[in-house]
Amino acid sequence: MSTDQQDEQGEEDTLVNVADGVDHQVAMVMDLNKCIGCQTCTIACKNLWTEDGGSEYMYWNNVETKPGEGYPRGWEDSGGGWESGEHSDRSPGEIPDEEDYGRAWEFNHEEIMYEGSDEPLRPRDGAEWGPNWDEDQGAGEYPNSYYFYLPRICNHCTHPSCVEACPRSALYKRQEDGIVLVDQDRCRGYRYCVEGCPYKKVYYNTVSKKSEKCIFCYPRIEGEGPEGETFAPACAEECPPQLRLVGFLDDEEGPIHKLVNEYEVALPLHPEFRTQPNVYYIPPFAPGQHTEDGETVDIDRIPRQYLRNLFGDSVDEALDTIDAHRQRVRQGGESELMELLQDKNPAKQYRLEVFDDE
Ligand code: SF4
Ligand code: SF4
Repeated sequence: MSTDQQDEQGEEDTLVNVADGVDHQVAMVMDLNKCIGCQTCTIACKNLWTEDGGSEYMYWNNVETKPGEGYPRGWEDSGGGWESGEHSDRSPGEIPDEEDYGRAWEFNHEEIMYEGSDEPLRPRDGAEWGPNWDEDQGAGEYPNSYYFYLPRICNHCTHPSCVEACPRSALYKRQEDGIVLVDQDRCRGYRYCVEGCPYKKVYYNTVSKKSEKCIFCYPRIEGEGPEGETFAPACAEECPPQLRLVGFLDDEEGPIHKLVNEYEVALPLHPEFRTQPNVYYIPPFAPGQHTEDGETVDIDRIPRQYLRNLFGDSVDEALDTIDAHRQRVRQGGESELMELLQDKNPAKQYRLEVFDDE
């Protein structure tokens, strides 16, 4: 996608609204400045939802290094989404192949454990690609190399092209909270949804022959605790730096609404796909570049154009806003924005019961 195309669509597709026919929209904000790439979120999700046959290769939550190929490899160039902000024509997309996701490798455990081999532990069949193969590689030249981590789940989009792509209406957006789900009884495994999602966040189960995807841990947010308590999605609850805010986009008192709508510092990934994601990111800061003798110079370490390619042109203003508030606090002033970004109070971080009494 060219920058011009991104510019053209940027304004229309960063509009924040709830889809027609949806009462409230669940949303998540992730602060990329806090992600340490530990994959705890990935494992929390995997243990809960994708351990069964045919789902071994799936990571409904994955964390990839940027710049980097991502998971599945090259997903950002795999098409899908919408041709225009009218959401009437879908853009053609591709279905990644097994190698792009990375096959599960078989290791030489048996030889080492039971047959006395002194070979190092390694995959049996010449592994050449897999999730996080290019972890921490990043880009740039020393001493100005850079990378950051990008955690990704399904965006539970306001205009989900995966839903439109399914000729069986097996995918749908829940009226009560906008979560996008696959009805397993209706799905026939045609994989149009995999092709139609530009984020490649629907997966085909090769055993059940049906599609599967992130369900925003809906049993948890509906209240599965012994006393009917709600829990945030496992990826959010388990995150050591607690970088995910979970709630509703239309909860005007909540931090998500403030970060997205009022301060406009939380941005959707690749808005040019036009699906209007409901997962938002606080873009990453990095120290300025260094000269060879270690002096800091006023040049962005992460090229601004790279961030524009990921988050659209709004990233310039978002970074300026955060910087201005940071300076204000450094000079002894107060900033609601900085408090929102640093708040570790679970009652504010996860606001899932605000619409329960309606
Ligand atoms: S991210 Fe993809 S799978 Fe999720 S709702 Fe959007 S289009 Fe559908
Ligand atoms: S658990 Fe949190 S810090 Fe660790 S990789 Fe996931 S989002 Fe990043």
